[in-house]
Amino acid sequence: MRALVFDSFRGPLQVREVADPTPAPGGVVVRVGASGICRSDWHAWQGHDSDVVLPHVPGHELAGTVAAVGAGVTRWTVGDRVTVPFVNACGGCAQCAAGEHQVCARQTQPGFTHWGSLAEFVALDAADVNLVAVPEQLDLATAAALGCRYATAFRAVAQVGAVRAGEWVVVHGCGGVGLSAVQIAVASGARVIAVDVSAAALELACALGAEHAVTGMADVAAVVAELTGGGAHVSLDALGAAATCTNSIRSLRPRGRHVQVGLLPPAQGRPEVPMDRVIALELQLFGSHGMAAHAYPELLGLIAAGRLDPRRLVTRELALADAGPALAEVGRQPGIAMVTNF
Ligand SMILES: [Zn+2]
Ligand SMILES: [Zn+2]
Repeated sequence: MRALVFDSFRGPLQVREVADPTPAPGGVVVRVGASGICRSDWHAWQGHDSDVVLPHVPGHELAGTVAAVGAGVTRWTVGDRVTVPFVNACGGCAQCAAGEHQVCARQTQPGFTHWGSLAEFVALDAADVNLVAVPEQLDLATAAALGCRYATAFRAVAQVGAVRAGEWVVVHGCGGVGLSAVQIAVASGARVIAVDVSAAALELACALGAEHAVTGMADVAAVVAELTGGGAHVSLDALGAAATCTNSIRSLRPRGRHVQVGLLPPAQGRPEVPMDRVIALELQLFGSHGMAAHAYPELLGLIAAGRLDPRRLVTRELALADAGPALAEVGRQPGIAMVTNF
């Protein structure tokens, strides 16, 4: 198969022929129809993820059709249209038994623990636990966004952040996951403030319903306090950087909820967490790590009902040949870049 490969961290990203994957017992191989290019892929390429073994094929935000089925799989057959959360849960550990598949103790992740989906084919583990059927009316490029950024944003806003109508929500970092969070928070009836350094990203955030756009160069917490009359109810670090994490926590009113969505690899420096404010204001700090497959029906229902429209986040469709430069420059252009031509 053709795949995007890197042989060294931060080294060349090349499309070349590699061996086809075979399904593990309980797993499947999917012919990839669409695969997003996400900041986490960039982290993998940079060497920020200790799971990655070289040479490596990145890609974890995907949809496609089942091409081969491993022994013991009961729910899926060749030709089924599917997507999958980037955390592939084992289905058998204590976390999985509690329904918390997104923090499975024995999880695998395509594009990190093994070769990923910026390729013609990808192997996925524990298919009966992790695969999600893509409804007929949903195209694969839109469905792929549900594998990482859109579903991650949905869980962060609706479930972990528990955003309610009328609340102020700040989204720090308006890349793919941040813009998704803007759209989902607006649909929840929240009043949304978007923060980014890119004018183009802020323009898109406002088109998706953000009420205010704040350039990240400003004293963000002071601006948010002014706009909201004392701080946000919920604030998300959707970028994953020391400055955006600290700004997010500082943007909150008393009893406010911070949700960390963007990855914060230690190599990039630890954020300064203002614990004095956390205790004095009784702030709540949460992490949000993807979304379990069993939680997808609610999201798919809102999409089918027209309440949410992830298609608007997919701003570019690319060929696999263009995936390398797009990965190296992730975040330069607003919205989600999706490889749809393999
Ligand atoms: Zn991702
Ligand atoms: Zn598990």
